Amino acid sequence: MTDGNGRLVDAAAAAADRDPAPSMRPTRFGEFIGQKVVCGNLKTGISAARGRGEALDHVLLHGPPGLGKTTLARIVANELGVGFHQTSGPVIARAGDLAAQLTNLDDHDVLFIDEIHRLNPAVEEVLYPAMEDYELDLVIGEGPAARSIRVPLKPFTLIGATTRAGLITKPLYDRFLIQQRLDYYDADDLTLMLLRLAGVVNEEISADGARVIATRARGTPRVAVRLLRRVRDIAFVAEAPAIDARIAREALATLDVDEKGMDTMDRRYLGCIAGNYGGGPVGVETLAAALSEHRDAIEDVIEPFLLQQGFIKRTPSGRVLTAPGWRHLGLAVPVGAAPGGDLFEGPGEDGV
Ligand code: ADP
Repeated sequence: MTDGNGRLVDAAAAAADRDPAPSMRPTRFGEFIGQKVVCGNLKTGISAARGRGEALDHVLLHGPPGLGKTTLARIVANELGVGFHQTSGPVIARAGDLAAQLTNLDDHDVLFIDEIHRLNPAVEEVLYPAMEDYELDLVIGEGPAARSIRVPLKPFTLIGATTRAGLITKPLYDRFLIQQRLDYYDADDLTLMLLRLAGVVNEEISADGARVIATRARGTPRVAVRLLRRVRDIAFVAEAPAIDARIAREALATLDVDEKGMDTMDRRYLGCIAGNYGGGPVGVETLAAALSEHRDAIEDVIEPFLLQQGFIKRTPSGRVLTAPGWRHLGLAVPVGAAPGGDLFEGPGEDGV
């Protein structure tokens, strides 16, 4: 499901329609911008694994959607020089499906499981011995004739990705020896990314134009890529020779993306807490019903950036609009509104 701006607001849809521009996906660490600490740790793991001639330890990548988890997993496989196999938690319905995937892996291959928090428990059980001892415990037959057999697997690396590390069971979580959290990108990194992407698709864009888009991309590469494509279409139809700051601002206004990167969906969410619930607290189920959205979409896609911006707070009794949240809606801040502690508040909205 997408909102009016083509932003994926459904976590499952995000998984299905992962990449707005596959050819633009970085394939090596050298092309991957930002996330320096995560890249550094992965590079160390890769060098050590290669040096010892072993499979890389299992890796868990977590963080909001669109930050580069899938891209990094592919890069790891490329840098290791091994095969890359991709699946996702909800797709693996039965233990047998996972067993088939695992027995197909070659020495040191990477198996990438997206949305790993959505694996069903019976499938997860199969993963434990596979991850720990490279063995499968399979039950053949049913009833009294059932017997268990052990099938050896080739050493492999599981890379799990999740937007909700908190939902992963402890035994699974503990089996990932490398755990890395991806954070939102700053505007400098997203600007660089957009300039590189524009180069790849032969689009004229000024550094200022790229920065305007970058600062409204919610710290998220997937959003930046999508906005670039939309702005590029608008510039093309307007017969603009290049995307400069003015064209970018006009195009983003047409797309209803404001200076903070909030779009129609974000404003509906904030407006709902303000208008219907006096600023909260309001439970996420109630909000989901009021907005006709899935709870998952609200928690995975909409809220993380609003929380990070300090526009809302999560409290035990529900979501609360903060003072910056009220201000962003252009409304008077009520007495007693939560302060915010916003990370990106301040002048110079689009930094140009
Ligand atoms: P996730 O798996 O975290 O949801 P993806 O790996 O699918 O995110 O990335 C979303 C999009 O953003 C892809 O088009 C990818 O090419 C691009 N992207 C992500 N991270 C970077 C990066 N650091 N540099 C350049 N492009 C990136």
